[in-house]
Amino acid sequence: MCGIFGAFSSGERPVLEDVYLGLYALQHRGQEAAGVAWINGNRNVHSLKGSGLVHLALDQQELSMIDTSCAIGHVRYSTSGGSELTNAQPLTATSSRGAVAIAHNGNLTNANEIKSHLESRGAIFQSRTDTESILHLMAHQPHKTRLDAFVDSLPRLRGAYSLLLVIDDRIVAARDPWGFRPLILGKREDVYYVSSESCALDLVGADIIREVEPGEVIVIDKKGISSLRIPLEVNKQYSCSFEHVYFARPDSMINGRSVYEIRKALGSKLAMRAPCEEADFVTGMPDSGTISAIGFSEESGLPYEKAIVRNRYVGRTFIEPTQRVRELGVKIKLNPIKELIKDKKIVIIDDSIVRGTTCQRMISMIRENGAREVHVRISSPPVRFPCYYGIDTPTREELAAARMNVQQIAQQVGADSLAFLTEEDLLQAIGTDLSKTCTACFTGRYMEGEQQNVMEL
Ligand code: AMP
Ligand code: SF4
Repeated sequence: MCGIFGAFSSGERPVLEDVYLGLYALQHRGQEAAGVAWINGNRNVHSLKGSGLVHLALDQQELSMIDTSCAIGHVRYSTSGGSELTNAQPLTATSSRGAVAIAHNGNLTNANEIKSHLESRGAIFQSRTDTESILHLMAHQPHKTRLDAFVDSLPRLRGAYSLLLVIDDRIVAARDPWGFRPLILGKREDVYYVSSESCALDLVGADIIREVEPGEVIVIDKKGISSLRIPLEVNKQYSCSFEHVYFARPDSMINGRSVYEIRKALGSKLAMRAPCEEADFVTGMPDSGTISAIGFSEESGLPYEKAIVRNRYVGRTFIEPTQRVRELGVKIKLNPIKELIKDKKIVIIDDSIVRGTTCQRMISMIRENGAREVHVRISSPPVRFPCYYGIDTPTREELAAARMNVQQIAQQVGADSLAFLTEEDLLQAIGTDLSKTCTACFTGRYMEGEQQNVMEL
């Protein structure tokens, strides 16, 4: 998973500081690397990238002094390639026809086929990202304008892509026809913004204009906004349901709905599907289960307590942890409040169980603190399949729900009871249906037609 943010000022205001702020607001979408790219008056492309969190990877003061009115940025969470800096984005390329920079959120499922095809025609790749294939596809169409070469490359791609490019003095935004990853357009005075999530528009003081539609390419230049369609018809859309469950920030809007409201609705569905009347109170795993726990409490009438405290300052502090630090694990980040828990029957809500480690460690801590019963409720269906569309999930063998049924997972994590939502509950809470939504990590129903891939250029 990654985050992308771009800004274009028709009044030639410098925008790099806004891009920095946008990336800062999208930090939850990727912590491995951050970068920005812009093209200056001489049409030379520039980029600055670094490893780690935005404020460590980029120098805000340096960016605020660069005079460019058109720039894009990226925060990286590696799903394709690896974590080394050559894979950090935006990627840039220069040819006699001019320069291009590109930033990508998502994951192409046919990247290997495209890469082999291009390598057989002489292409040499600099990075191990799937994104670089798009630049090569453009380069293989030298008789077209770069915008046309870009748009004509898109029907060859399968899987998830929300893209931002700088081509000369334009920003180009594109979203795959399946609509996997969010992408939203905003404006403040003479500056247009495109962002993975609306929370970043809030930070730069921009108003939401609308979402970039699945299958749409938007070009922003001095004349304003123009919109093109990707020439590819699809039968079904696959907007990622996990964005609502876990990934997006709760203060973002996706498909016109507040992520916060949806998480509360997931909690309320959970209270209807698997109530726990004998419990003394409900609590949420910070921060991923907190909002759904409030929804569960409101629906069930059980009191809500903030019984688990998160250390706000824990980041990726322990890169190579010692044995002692490894054993402490979740305890470094989360700590239950003893006085609340002792002798109580507790319902604890989290958004998902992936390997089962977080849940298991938390339950054992809660029991060590004297709880009488610990009931777990998960505000999504069991994650039984890996994601190939840009969210980093373990292999199938590592997923607790791929190996075990609900009762076995409950036993493994040490819960007195355990319940999940159904796919139908999830879709209802999001306010959507299967014709528009991806639920593949829960159901194994991946995107159709991935093999029908026309490679002729
Ligand atoms: P686990 O301990 O492996 O069961 O992971 C479950 C926890 O990780 C939950 O509390 C989730 O909030 C969080 N989580 C779920 N999906 C992801 C993901 N793709 N990347 C990082 N964390 C995740
Ligand atoms: Fe989202 Fe799951 Fe589909 Fe991946 S498989 S896009 S995480 S719903």
